[in-house]
Amino acid sequence: MRRFFIAGNWKMNKSPAESERFAAELKKRLLDINAVDIAVSPTALSLGVVTQKLKHTNIDVSAQNMHDQSTGAFTGEVSGEMLREAGVTYVILGHSERRHKFQENDSFIQKKVEASFRCGLLPILCVGETLEQRQSGQAASVTLSQVEKGLAGLSADQVAAVTIAYEPVWAIGTGHTATPQQAQEMHAIIRSWLKDRYPDFVHKQLRIQYGGSVKPHNALSLLEQPDIDGALIGGASLKIDSFVAIIETAAQLSKG
Ligand code: PEP
Repeated sequence: MRRFFIAGNWKMNKSPAESERFAAELKKRLLDINAVDIAVSPTALSLGVVTQKLKHTNIDVSAQNMHDQSTGAFTGEVSGEMLREAGVTYVILGHSERRHKFQENDSFIQKKVEASFRCGLLPILCVGETLEQRQSGQAASVTLSQVEKGLAGLSADQVAAVTIAYEPVWAIGTGHTATPQQAQEMHAIIRSWLKDRYPDFVHKQLRIQYGGSVKPHNALSLLEQPDIDGALIGGASLKIDSFVAIIETAAQLSKG
């Protein structure tokens, strides 16, 4: 049986009060879904209320970012230790908005991935090429380079616990989803790269999510692909009905 991992990235949306109401509604609507791993990723300010609301449920909470240091003079930042204390399970690292709008580079992202394990958090490492890079035939080399640099220094056990989110930049928030074939092709490339470098259990355990305009109408065709183990969802995770519909699709599919 396949076990999908569906995560919603709320980005800079939903106030603490809105996040709490949304989490309460999700908890009700997803009560019976046990065949899918589910996470939501509110803003840092809403993590406290959302982790409280979702305590002892089948929905985990993810942060959208963190700093690699535990404490210190890093104005505006939050550490992994603080996230863990707040009840957070996952942390999204290297999202394309962090890479492109906040100039985060591979070396900083790698430090955060390492730090996430030190703090007991599970990283969701985002990778993916821009439209220009795809058009010039560099999609695979750019993506694999981000994978390689992001995972540097981790043990095989740690790599197996990472979730990689393949998110082609041209598909994020644009409504232009990668075709199931394009997504599958890159997922297979990533998995085969892992297979060549780590013991076999790593490429079998590590989950590769697809992200980029996943909606209820295209979720099935993407999740049906053999190397797509779940989805990281932006826009469609902000509305209860669309987020629940995608999770239900994954639950149906996991039953075979
Ligand atoms: C994302 O932000 O990770 C994302 C995939 O966004 P969207 O689903 O809106 O394209």
